[in-house]
Amino acid sequence: MTKRDYYEILGVGKDASVDEIKKTYRKLAMKYHPDRVAPEKRKEAEEQFKEISEAYAVLSDEHKRAQYDRFGHAGINNQYSSEDIFRGADFGSIFEDLGFGGGIFEDIFSGFGSRRRQGPRRGADLEYELPLSLEEAAGGIEKTINIRRGENCSECGGEGAQPGTKKTTCTVCRGAGQVGQSAGFFTIARTCDTCHGEGTIIQKPCKSCRGQGKVSVERKINVKVPAGVDSGSHLRVRGEGEAGAKGGPRGDLYILIRLKAHDTFERHQNDVYCTVGVTFVQAALGTEIEVPTLYKEKIKMNIPTGTQSENVFRISGKGFADLRGYGKGDQYVKVHVKVPTDLSGQQKKLLMEFAQLSGEDVRNETITEKIKKAFK
Ligand SMILES: [Zn+2]
Ligand SMILES: [Zn+2]
Repeated sequence: MTKRDYYEILGVGKDASVDEIKKTYRKLAMKYHPDRVAPEKRKEAEEQFKEISEAYAVLSDEHKRAQYDRFGHAGINNQYSSEDIFRGADFGSIFEDLGFGGGIFEDIFSGFGSRRRQGPRRGADLEYELPLSLEEAAGGIEKTINIRRGENCSECGGEGAQPGTKKTTCTVCRGAGQVGQSAGFFTIARTCDTCHGEGTIIQKPCKSCRGQGKVSVERKINVKVPAGVDSGSHLRVRGEGEAGAKGGPRGDLYILIRLKAHDTFERHQNDVYCTVGVTFVQAALGTEIEVPTLYKEKIKMNIPTGTQSENVFRISGKGFADLRGYGKGDQYVKVHVKVPTDLSGQQKKLLMEFAQLSGEDVRNETITEKIKKAFK
């Protein structure tokens, strides 16, 4: 993969001032900060975050920028190690401003952030896609779902070592779990290869989890879906994700809602649309019809005299509840006027009479005959 141009990454001109570069980076950092995006986009956001941070580190430094302007990426890579690229850049003021700790850098630049620390670690988040009918989304519903997740092995208590055996401290990292060096404001750390960041070596792995400390378990989870959810809505179920390590808490479970297509209804934002058929007599004379709703009840709707086909009527408050609490959407009912087919002789006769009364010139002639007559 070819590396993208630093100016292009930040979206600034070649003559951008350091101040402008700082401002732009600050904006992008807020956008791509991995803590601020949906869990399924986190990996991607981390990559983007790394990319903008590197571009910022180089372009905000006079020497590195001059080097880059003259020789491009090669000029930077030949002269600076991956740690040195970031050395000296001012991330501190930006991140204090934004209320993020410098820890984000350790997480991202150590590459294997989650395995880095030796202390308690929070488990990973899980995502589950939940298909719902429009009725379920409208009314809200409680569902039981089956998920598979990692839980601490009960045999070894999540330690991974055969009960009764001990772990020894890793000699390569001396128990730190990482090897690395300080690079100014933050530490560039690499996970220790020998102990995979654990800081300890298991002498005799637990048989039941093969030393993983975790076993895969299927669980039933009750999910309360609030009324009004839409496709793409995320519900967070706290503490129902993957098990943490070393006594760390579980991750969260994210329920991603997907609405199924419906035979009768279509959703647009918080409104719902449907089409009902009426006969041409009903449309002409007016009537009251029953219209289905999303709420297990039919509702009576007035069809006024002289209703035209495709006229739309609004039933207030029968759409979806707004998730932010701004009331409810409406139901829009499009009336489709059905033209009768297979008329009996008697019906035809009556319609002819009707036409004559309306002053319509309807005889049993075809359109072509009519046109011919008109042009005589
Ligand atoms: Zn075990
Ligand atoms: Zn180690």
